[in-house]
Amino acid sequence: MPPTLHVCPFCPLHCDDVSLEPSSEAERIVNVQCAKAITGYTKALSGSQSARIADSAVTTALASKQAKEILAGNGVIHVATTGTDLDTARRLNQLQRENRIRIAVDDSISTAAWRAAVSREGTLSATLGDVRRHADVVWTIGDVDSETPRLRERISADTKECIQSNSLAAEPLAELFYAIRTDTPGSDSNKLTVASIASANYLAVILGRNAFVASEAAATSEMLSKLLWYLNKTRRAIVLKLDAAATNRAVTAWQTNRLVPSVAGDLRHEIHVRLGSPEVGTGAAKMQIGGIDRGRKFAEVFLPAATMGIDRDGVAVRGDATVTIPLAAICPSRELTAIELLEQSLG
Ligand code: SF4
Repeated sequence: MPPTLHVCPFCPLHCDDVSLEPSSEAERIVNVQCAKAITGYTKALSGSQSARIADSAVTTALASKQAKEILAGNGVIHVATTGTDLDTARRLNQLQRENRIRIAVDDSISTAAWRAAVSREGTLSATLGDVRRHADVVWTIGDVDSETPRLRERISADTKECIQSNSLAAEPLAELFYAIRTDTPGSDSNKLTVASIASANYLAVILGRNAFVASEAAATSEMLSKLLWYLNKTRRAIVLKLDAAATNRAVTAWQTNRLVPSVAGDLRHEIHVRLGSPEVGTGAAKMQIGGIDRGRKFAEVFLPAATMGIDRDGVAVRGDATVTIPLAAICPSRELTAIELLEQSLG
């Protein structure tokens, strides 16, 4: 019998071709060329994560008691997440309506700056399918591969001309924009990028984590937006930024007509609770519920939780905000989910 294909819940691409082949009664082989998926499935399926307080593994009951103590007397609780499934997003909004929590998205400074530039300048976006079918040049900026390891495969990048930039700063981007506008070859440091962009009929710009140098993120993202509008006078140029919090943004917009704020660079409020795994470089929280425990540097207390799409059925909006994807449970369990544990901790 062919192995059952599964939708991966571990990044906003939500690849639907992961096969999980039983190797023994208790173990499965995760058959996909993606280190992020293998780590996620292995941890979630093995149930190997234990509750933790500071540096010590403890019982879940003890960590839950500590969680309640952390939240007691803190007034409105600040909750951050990189993104959740649909049901969790709805329940978070309900808790926020009851004025018990404030939700924020765990964005990087770079991502938050891009979102702000788009809200001011507007931009042209596209779906994964559009990029795969139509783009002839793909320009990745920042760390796309660790955030969404199979993105290149999903857009058939090997059939396109690909250029890559590390974190962009304002001045090099201004020089590149000048070369494009004046139809000149550019400098030694940017002439290959200039030539590729100038030759594109359909340019897809893909923004990864830290696409812009943090201290210049606002100016750089605004300039990139202007470059894209300029290019669109003579060809098609779009931006694809896969968003792990696409579900939360969609639910908040539908239910409240508002945007979800970002914690990026805002150290005024401490994070009491983080739901799900922290991203590299993100601020510390008092406690983390669910996701992968990355240690005390990221949260003083860790409470493991059921994973949507592994232990429970769920639904999520894909990171390009175009389709809703079912996340089917592989081994349904009665272990509590992160939102159930949060509701329990709030009392
Ligand atoms: S790229 Fe993302 S969704 Fe696809 S298999 Fe890897 S972690 Fe899962």
